[in-house]
Amino acid sequence: MSNKWKRKDHTKCVAAGDAGQLYNGALVTPIFQTTNYVFADSQDLIDLQEGKAGGYLYSRYANPGIEAAEKRLAALENGEQALLLSSGMAATATICMTFLKAGDRLLASGSLYGGTTSLFNDILSRFGVQIDYIPLASFDQLADHLDESTRLLWFETPVNPTLGVLDIAAIANTARERGVLTVCDNTFASPINQKPLDLGVDLVMHSASKYIGGHSDVIGGAVIGCDELISPTWKTRKFLGGCMDPHAAFLVERGLKTLAVRVERHNFAAQKIAEYLDDHPKVRRVFYPGLPDSPGHTIAAKQMSGFGGMVSFEVYGGLAEAIRTIDSLELIANATSLGGVESLASLPALTSQYFQTPEERAASGISDALIRLSAGLEDVDDLCADLDQALNA
Ligand SMILES: *Cc1c(COP(=O)(O)O)cnc(C)c1O
Repeated sequence: MSNKWKRKDHTKCVAAGDAGQLYNGALVTPIFQTTNYVFADSQDLIDLQEGKAGGYLYSRYANPGIEAAEKRLAALENGEQALLLSSGMAATATICMTFLKAGDRLLASGSLYGGTTSLFNDILSRFGVQIDYIPLASFDQLADHLDESTRLLWFETPVNPTLGVLDIAAIANTARERGVLTVCDNTFASPINQKPLDLGVDLVMHSASKYIGGHSDVIGGAVIGCDELISPTWKTRKFLGGCMDPHAAFLVERGLKTLAVRVERHNFAAQKIAEYLDDHPKVRRVFYPGLPDSPGHTIAAKQMSGFGGMVSFEVYGGLAEAIRTIDSLELIANATSLGGVESLASLPALTSQYFQTPEERAASGISDALIRLSAGLEDVDDLCADLDQALNA
């Protein structure tokens, strides 16, 4: 990466990647809504095929507008290259299909985004990959869980929905000593709050549908890492077909422009809400790494520059009480997903963990009375007032 992109995040969000300047002086990167590209003559095509000249052939392989957004994201994660894909799940599937083969073992953190767990258990397992989970509490003894066949270690932090925190540098060091590739799903933190590549992780994965897009209007995914790991991933994207649409890439680049500003505000709101709920008589427990007495606080303070926009909390009682609370919210919408400008609340027991038994949920520390909140950009006093009236309803 050129020195130019050793700049700070707020600058990278607005300017990294030389986006629009290349195209007739357009300030904003145009949408290259084209499947294919015309060659002046066949020699140009031959030069492109032989890597002697740059250029584009077909938009499933590469597209200038998508590349502009990829460069900006790579700069923000301090990676050499980024790839955008059609969804976070496409990014996950593409990474797995690139680096795993039959006989390999995939070790994953015991608490993961539900879709990731389903992909591993229901699909990847059919291709001869052995899948094992390591409980969050056992990460201190990670080395004991890595064996000869372990090829890839997949984890996310902060953990959905309980916002536990894993020590990224410790995990990356242990795995690297054993030759195990690490992938960190950085969706919850966003590249503004946490840069796993700087802490030694091999690949960062994102659901760009969350903070990166930031407006709940685009589905996308991303993989970021060094050239050596991104080139084979690019090849898998090309043949698996999970490429991003040019218009979606436009929305992603537009989202990136305000990412640092939005995330600062999400962090601020979530911290205030967590403190407010922590003192609320109707709230049993609050999960937020920014609370000084939260179990993940020390590690989070070491590896994150902000504690993120996600807060979870448990109300007294069970599922019925949680449903009553969420149904009483007036400003905060009852919807899944996260990372957008609108504050959202959801019940993991009715969404990501719906198909688990209460015992399975309890094993991952997810009570039926747990409410997950994505703090949006509304005034935080209004958000606290809405929570208060719903809790007292
Ligand atoms: C949403 C999400 C995903 C999946 O991303 P999609 O864009 O919905 O495919 C993966 N990981 C985490 C942590 C998520 O929140």
